[in-house]
Amino acid sequence: MLGKNFKLLSLAGAYWKGDEHNKQLQRIYGTNYPDKKELKAHINRIEEAKKRDHRKLGRELELFNLSEDVGSGLILWLPKGAMIRNIIENYWRDQHIKNGYDLVYSPHVAKLNLWDKSGHTNFYSENMFRPMDVEDVEYQLKPMNCPFHMQMYKTKIRSYRDLPIRYAELGTVYRYERSGVLHGLMRVRGFTQDDAHIYCHPNHLAEEIKTVLDFTKAMLGKFGFTEFETYLSTKPEKYVGSDENWELATNALKDALESSGTTFEVDPGEGVFYGPKIDIKIKDVLGRSWQCSTIQVDFNLPEGFDLNFVDADGQNYRPITIHRALLGSIERFFGILIEHYAGNFPLWLAPQQVQVIPITDKHADYAKQVAEQLKENGFRVDIDFRSEKMGFKIREAEVQKIPYMVIVGDSEIEEKTISVRHKGDGNIGKLTLSSFIDRLTAELD
Ligand SMILES: [Zn+2]
Repeated sequence: MLGKNFKLLSLAGAYWKGDEHNKQLQRIYGTNYPDKKELKAHINRIEEAKKRDHRKLGRELELFNLSEDVGSGLILWLPKGAMIRNIIENYWRDQHIKNGYDLVYSPHVAKLNLWDKSGHTNFYSENMFRPMDVEDVEYQLKPMNCPFHMQMYKTKIRSYRDLPIRYAELGTVYRYERSGVLHGLMRVRGFTQDDAHIYCHPNHLAEEIKTVLDFTKAMLGKFGFTEFETYLSTKPEKYVGSDENWELATNALKDALESSGTTFEVDPGEGVFYGPKIDIKIKDVLGRSWQCSTIQVDFNLPEGFDLNFVDADGQNYRPITIHRALLGSIERFFGILIEHYAGNFPLWLAPQQVQVIPITDKHADYAKQVAEQLKENGFRVDIDFRSEKMGFKIREAEVQKIPYMVIVGDSEIEEKTISVRHKGDGNIGKLTLSSFIDRLTAELD
């Protein structure tokens, strides 16, 4: 029932079930609120979301590109976007090493047989690209990284003393998504998962899950996300593995959630066929929820790949396998980051941190010296040498959302100082270069 406080928001074409072969339908978006104030707040949020749209900002800030010549859902990371990705990935790798993970790499294709063994051709074929023929053997573009890590586990005999083994990979996967559901960076056909597979002793499952949960929150917190919605998904109707194992694993996940003080909701029957899982959604600055992290217990792959470890009693047992991703897809996480910060990335993520602006050509040498010293101190700096008016150059740097501007002219050269502007706070005033470097360093810490 539409009341007085109804607003028609937009019209859009949509394919029935997202399939481009189906008939196109007209989708009407509208909103209805019981009171005018709430409706207004809602409309504001929608306007704000439009301004922050990662596809729009991605174009304006030259972060990434999609090209019809390349193909739908395949991302070209332009230099500035690639710089941010590099910072994210370096941080990610560094943290994983500190948290006891081994970093690994795996190929982008493998024999189709491997995917038979892992069960993907059975359960996941709808999302896989068609196999290719290589010297009469069928090869498959990888939709997931799991089977490779299982093979790595199997490269030698494992003892209970070796566990847990944690393999982590920024693994690029390819999934056949219908063109009707593709959306900027959020839904694509090629993306990089921040994937890891943990092999642990059944007795240590709860402890390991808790460690992963703490790691997840710390990682997401670093990127500015501190509000989470957590779900525990339990045994579905169709499942593999014994009831006993399901109970053990579900209790381990629950214990880990409780002992880490996480409030969560149970999603009954929403687990994957191979095991129960924890899903974590983050809340962005507009209050929207995004599913990023997932922690899944798997009883299927250790069976399929016949994974073993020798326990203290000298007998062979199956290790418990945990799949986990903290950021989810790097592409999608980047899309969320762009919208969360509206392109105003914090200093540590900003592709360019400082823009040096000489007032006229005769200040170019001093500008170069300043930039050089900032670079030597590890900052990402550029100089605007164009013979445009200073006001114009400042506006340009603001449009590019560069956190700091350093303006140099006659008086700065004379006093051996620099004039500093901050994108949000405006004019900061004259500083010596070393006190500016101290300020930047403190902000990064
Ligand atoms: Zn996996």
